[in-house]
Amino acid sequence: MALQSSRFKNNLRLQNASNNNPTLKLGEIGPAVQIVQEALVFLGYPLPKSTKPNGTLDGVYGTETKKAIEAFQRKNNLVDDGIIGENTLAALDAYFIAGPRPVPIPLPKSPPQYELKIHLRSTALAANSKYSDPYTDTFAELLRTGRELMLSNFYTAKNFYKKYNIHLRLLTEDILKLTPEQEKELSSIEVFCRTFGMSTEQQLLYSLGPATGPDEVTAFFVNRMEDISAGELRGCATYQYTHPVNKNRLPLLIVSQVVPMCTQILAHELGHLLLGADFIPAHSEDPMNIMYPDQGLVNRPNIVLDDQQVAQIFKSPLLKKSLNL
Ligand SMILES: [Zn+2]
Repeated sequence: MALQSSRFKNNLRLQNASNNNPTLKLGEIGPAVQIVQEALVFLGYPLPKSTKPNGTLDGVYGTETKKAIEAFQRKNNLVDDGIIGENTLAALDAYFIAGPRPVPIPLPKSPPQYELKIHLRSTALAANSKYSDPYTDTFAELLRTGRELMLSNFYTAKNFYKKYNIHLRLLTEDILKLTPEQEKELSSIEVFCRTFGMSTEQQLLYSLGPATGPDEVTAFFVNRMEDISAGELRGCATYQYTHPVNKNRLPLLIVSQVVPMCTQILAHELGHLLLGADFIPAHSEDPMNIMYPDQGLVNRPNIVLDDQQVAQIFKSPLLKKSLNL
């Protein structure tokens, strides 16, 4: 098949590729690749990494160009193998045969994207003075696993909420350095969970670490906590933002050392925060639901939110519509 458009027809390499002799694919470098890249950009497939500062394309068939070709192939009902051969060149050529004309690329029909900003703070290790000797292997190991647990909870929550077009943006993460007195006081934290009050231990906790901005969630991973009525807890979300040091802090507590391998506590507690105190029932009876009461004890695959929960979550003032994710 001979290429006809003025954009492609004078390039021998492209004419050969249009006969699969041979095709153009990942790794190739040269003017033929550059011509295809220019066509892709013209048709609305941006190639920022392959575009030099002066605006010319680099002529390197790298991953970015391959992905753009695959997108073009899908758009044109071709096999999206990222290889430029007869069919792909024919489809590309067709756009330019009648002379270059802008082809409107419809905007993807994606639902609105939301953003939730979050800070992570861990006291879990420092709070237990038995592990406070930084010169022992045990301390280093706990520090590593403590941070890993915090981050794996974060990434589990991030992947979970992504399904609902909610992007968790990690602003800061910090292992808090405590004075011996603070360690003692925070080794077990009394909480008033799901209520509007705060214990002195909670207040101390929320005053630690760098200040956070409005509408940002701070998740604390602590050694141990207890509710005066419910006993030992794995997690606790509080709703009222009454801390005198920073009224805008949205506290969220996690016990990390009681259930050291579970990474779904943060997603569950964030669920409470996003649903709000008035959402009834706060917990679901479906074991596959992230709001099932024992999420945080075991890791389950394929956890979900139900339709009512999803509708409620999007009313949360914590979620901000985001245009550029
Ligand atoms: Zn819960």
